[in-house]
Amino acid sequence: MSEQPTGVWVYLQHTKGDLTKDSLELIAAGKSVAEKLKQKVVGVLIGSGLESMEKRAFEYGADSVLVVDDPALEVYFNLAYADAIYSMVVEKRPYVFLFSANEIGKDIAARVAYRVPTGLATDNVQLAVEDYNNPALGQFKDLLIQIRPDFGTRLARIYTPKHRPQMATVRPGSFAPLEPDPKRKGKLEKVDFKPGIYPAKVTKVTELPPPFPDLGSADVVISLGMGILKDGHGNPKDPREAYGYAKQLKDIFEARYHLKAEIGASRALVYAEVKELDGMIGRSNQVGQTGATVKPKVYIAVGISGALQHRVGMQNSAKIVAINTDPEAPIFKIAHYPMVGDVYEELPKLIAAIGGPASG
Ligand SMILES: Cc1cc2nc3c(=O)[nH]c(=O)nc-3n(C[C@H](O)[C@H](O)[C@H](O)COP(=O)(O)OP(=O)(O)OC[C@H]3O[C@@H](n4cnc5c(N)ncnc54)[C@H](O)[C@@H]3O)c2cc1C
Repeated sequence: MSEQPTGVWVYLQHTKGDLTKDSLELIAAGKSVAEKLKQKVVGVLIGSGLESMEKRAFEYGADSVLVVDDPALEVYFNLAYADAIYSMVVEKRPYVFLFSANEIGKDIAARVAYRVPTGLATDNVQLAVEDYNNPALGQFKDLLIQIRPDFGTRLARIYTPKHRPQMATVRPGSFAPLEPDPKRKGKLEKVDFKPGIYPAKVTKVTELPPPFPDLGSADVVISLGMGILKDGHGNPKDPREAYGYAKQLKDIFEARYHLKAEIGASRALVYAEVKELDGMIGRSNQVGQTGATVKPKVYIAVGISGALQHRVGMQNSAKIVAINTDPEAPIFKIAHYPMVGDVYEELPKLIAAIGGPASG
């Protein structure tokens, strides 16, 4: 057993023989922390037939990889995977352990944290390293500060000074993968682990159809907010008109620019369950903290205020266009192309600016 906890561990997920995009982002997240701590990034890979993935982990920035490679672990099974990870944590004692805040990451991170035991800060959008001084608890050097939206409108900074590893899940889309370097090498360590006997087993895995709309992979996302319910003078509008403009934009981007475009929405609009938008806007359109995280080439926010919970789902978009009547709306703080004005006047101008209707 090592003396002091050390190493920034990242749990690497994989599918169809390759690391997932979330995992590549997580290596970058780990790297940002490890550099400040002057520690190493250690990838944790579990499954069967993992050789090519170890190499990918090094290319994308992992300094070393711990591998549990066993045919019995070919399919993700949380009880066995949690056992494998737990035994590695107890033996090797990492300082920080990061997981992606996706379905598998949340499942496994919670199980491991409970058993270690240590805390788990979920859904982080930023990570920092700082010294921490608390008169009641003492002084702590080089603490991982976990930064996530709170339940209101602010970012919470979470301090977990006492237990190691400091464990956190990181929201997909919060960090960009590092540039891969095919020449980069790392240290590989094979770890022996034999799954035990469990009260449940995986008998079949069924892949769900791709999400619809597939916001995460779109090049352009046009999102509608509560601002589409009224015009610039506050008079009620039929929101199908705004939806129609958004659809025209989608068609233009797809037909003329060959970019995959999807229509998104703020949570407020989704939850408003506007009857005119029935079948057009639903839960699967929601962008934000409790919806999809997107990172398109172009994000167009239509009548969206830009509350923190919305921004964390789209703020890493390459270019942000925002249409809002309120020049003080928070969305304008991150918009590259602010359009101060009424949705119903500005959308036709935007359509004309990119060449008019697709069939025209
Ligand atoms: C735990 C939690 C999780 C959340 N998760 C999410 C999430 O995942 N996604 C999300 O979006 N929100 C989320 N929210 C809600 C979030 O805080 C906001 O309430 C929501 O994003 C607001 O939606 P909106 O911008 O459409 O509406 P509003 O805040 O009502 O903003 C409407 C905007 O439209 C503008 N406007 C009005 N009329 C016009 C017009 N004619 N033309 C142009 N502009 C106009 C107004 O100036 C205003 O800025 C969450 C909240 C909590 C507490």
